[in-house]
Amino acid sequence: MLIGFDADDTLWHSEIYFQAAHAEFERILGAYVDLHDARVHDALLSTERRNIRLFGYGAKGMTLSLLETALAITGHALSGLDVQRLLDLGKAILAHPVELLPGIEQAVTEVAADYPLVLITKGDLFHQEAKIRQCALREHFSRIEIVSEKDPETYQRLLAEFGVGAEQFLMVGNSLKSDIEPVARLGGYGVHVPYVVTWALEAEHALEAGHPRVATVKSAHGIPGAIARLLEST
Ligand SMILES: [Mg+2]
Repeated sequence: MLIGFDADDTLWHSEIYFQAAHAEFERILGAYVDLHDARVHDALLSTERRNIRLFGYGAKGMTLSLLETALAITGHALSGLDVQRLLDLGKAILAHPVELLPGIEQAVTEVAADYPLVLITKGDLFHQEAKIRQCALREHFSRIEIVSEKDPETYQRLLAEFGVGAEQFLMVGNSLKSDIEPVARLGGYGVHVPYVVTWALEAEHALEAGHPRVATVKSAHGIPGAIARLLEST
């Protein structure tokens, strides 16, 4: 059995920094428009959705989407100073030190004693590499894969490279859309560990509740037990 771990919001905090940047973005735009009338939040989300295909995931793409949305909403009246502020929001995320989630160090160490581990994360290559370099947990992973999208095709390609079938693979992660649904769809297992907040675009999934090969735990502390229960019940 091979166990895969997601990184952002599974090993370490990530989405809370993005949401803080979004809140600051709205505060900055509040100087130009009535935030409620301008539907700033919806405008940003649809810009991000459109731009994912061009920029991929991560803070750099978010920064460009902040700028694009701000220019559109302000009718290109956005000041140079506020352009700088938006650039700085993105840079602050990229420079933020890695903060591990409570209990994850012990959970990964415990699971690593019984199974080989791989890390599978999507997002900006440069940023993900920087975070992995800072993270002492990396030594537990036999392979680290940074991918542009986590869909069934990507997992299928990775499993072929690892030389394991889907029924020999279990993925641990915070996103039903990116970590759990595609793996379950291929015939693998999933342990879902919800993060405190979920990005709207990650909340979209079609996994049925109560899937027999999927377990949900409240925090990292529950991961080793959930893996053991899922694998012994089959
Ligand atoms: Mg994640």
